[in-house]
Amino acid sequence: MPRPVPVPDAVSKPFWDACNERRLIVQRCSACDRRQFPPEATCRDCGSEANLEWVATSGRGRIHGAIVMHDSRIKMWQPLQPYNLVGIALEDDPAIKFMSNLPGVPVHEVPVGAAVEVEFIEASPEQLVPEWRIVG
Ligand SMILES: [Zn+2]
Repeated sequence: MPRPVPVPDAVSKPFWDACNERRLIVQRCSACDRRQFPPEATCRDCGSEANLEWVATSGRGRIHGAIVMHDSRIKMWQPLQPYNLVGIALEDDPAIKFMSNLPGVPVHEVPVGAAVEVEFIEASPEQLVPEWRIVG
């Protein structure tokens, strides 16, 4: 599926730059040892700004849940309805969720609980974005 092109800001730019190098990173707060995604200017737990750093992830996860989208607000996806909207729980920290369309998997056939791995697809010639595929 085509992807909306992200517009990186000062907070999210390291994440999008890492995607262009095919690396999936998340923020980590060294004050409370908590990871978070999506990127924010401060730690969602302790409010610290100075202690946020970027850390690598394994790029692996599990399918946490799935719905079938029939009524998207994203105009570019409306002609592709119905499509999968899948929640991915990150292996390194299952509290962190990513969204996926799980390309190639028919709607109503998403294997919840299956292991997935990140891949990177072009949202534009200048920007790669994360997508997920089933492994094993
Ligand atoms: Zn914190």
